[in-house]
Amino acid sequence: MCFHCLPLTALPLTVMDKLSIKDLDLKGQRVFVRVDFNVPVKDGKVGDDTRIRAALPTIRYAIERGARVILASHLGRPKGERVEKYSLRPIHSFLAGLDEIPAVEFADDCVGEKASAAVDAMKDGEALLLENLRFHKEEEENDEGFAKELANLCDLYVNDAFGAAHRAHASTVGITKHVEKAAAGLLMEKELEYLGRVLNNPERPFVAILGGAKVSDKIPVINSLITRRVDKILIGGAMAYTFFKAEGFTVGKSLVENNMLDTAREIKQRAEAEGVKLVLPTDHQVVDSYDPLKSRKTIPIEFTNAGLVGLDIGAETVAFFSKELEDAKTVIWNGPMGVFEEKGFEEGTVGVALAVAGAAERGAIVIVGGGDSVAAITQAGVADKITHISTGGGATLEFLAGDELPGVEALNDK
Ligand code: AMP
Repeated sequence: MCFHCLPLTALPLTVMDKLSIKDLDLKGQRVFVRVDFNVPVKDGKVGDDTRIRAALPTIRYAIERGARVILASHLGRPKGERVEKYSLRPIHSFLAGLDEIPAVEFADDCVGEKASAAVDAMKDGEALLLENLRFHKEEEENDEGFAKELANLCDLYVNDAFGAAHRAHASTVGITKHVEKAAAGLLMEKELEYLGRVLNNPERPFVAILGGAKVSDKIPVINSLITRRVDKILIGGAMAYTFFKAEGFTVGKSLVENNMLDTAREIKQRAEAEGVKLVLPTDHQVVDSYDPLKSRKTIPIEFTNAGLVGLDIGAETVAFFSKELEDAKTVIWNGPMGVFEEKGFEEGTVGVALAVAGAAERGAIVIVGGGDSVAAITQAGVADKITHISTGGGATLEFLAGDELPGVEALNDK
């Protein structure tokens, strides 16, 4: 039986039956906290600090209870080599400037002499940040020996890196076999609680908004949402063009996944069969050429000719999507409505950010995940209105698709 044919009750849902940091006696213990400090760093400075700040409650919780807190994270893709631009030193400097936590020491490696000497020097209630886990290829290989080396640094393990929980790496999975107890951190718990609530028991109408470049990345999540009989799925971004082309519309030179046309048709049929309303844009911003940018205009989707490239949803679609959100009680949003990172093509995504914030103000549970959508929420100045901003990109999508996350599975049960 294929995944999306499973009955609702048989879907693998992760419930929060895992050990929590709150169940651990932390006093005087060396606690390895896997965090997700994979944040943008430019010229040695941290850019968007959302992920770091999201981990502070766990760090503070452990410090206040007299733990020796060993923080470990990956940053970027150094592919198993020491690459200076992926050093966690800028993150260490950022942490040093925070009032919320006491000074944090830094170890120039995450295993070996340097790491163990730094851990040995720690006192209760102190914190230490280890250098990038991915400077060792064994991290992503989930190498047993490397996992043991990490485990040797600590007594207890806490995973607070929701954004890395969909990866079975040494610091997210391997290490858990070699520690006394492996528990979820406060951020991990919060993510699982909100996302779990959406999957298990959503208040309706339940509206999902999906955007971004590719249908192929989002098929599992779309299928899962249809199986769960979400009320509406609003689709924007380049993804919409694959659906339009599958329906026989002209999409010009807009980004399309030609090998996904049959899949798009199947998704549409499944949605119809399950009573899920699939909503596509009615207008879009197009250009004659992208590079250099030429002749930008907003036109109805059906007026698109062979020479045009669609780069954002239009104002009519923003209004139409906003209307579809009017009575929503649960909203999830992942993926931009256009080429959001290009100046001039952020309006659709920011418009949707304002619309989901409006839904939250009317009492809906609104969950936003994925870098661009979260950036749009910040840009629109509505971050404080959103019920839960998820720190996971891929992890959020995999969780919403109904998959067990290896980093959560590996933790001890209560
Ligand atoms: P994803 O990683 O799937 O969420 O996709 C994000 C990317 O989709 C962003 O880099 C956007 O620039 C891109 N994107 C969104 N809409 C369009 C579009 N109409 N044409 C080309 N790229 C797009």
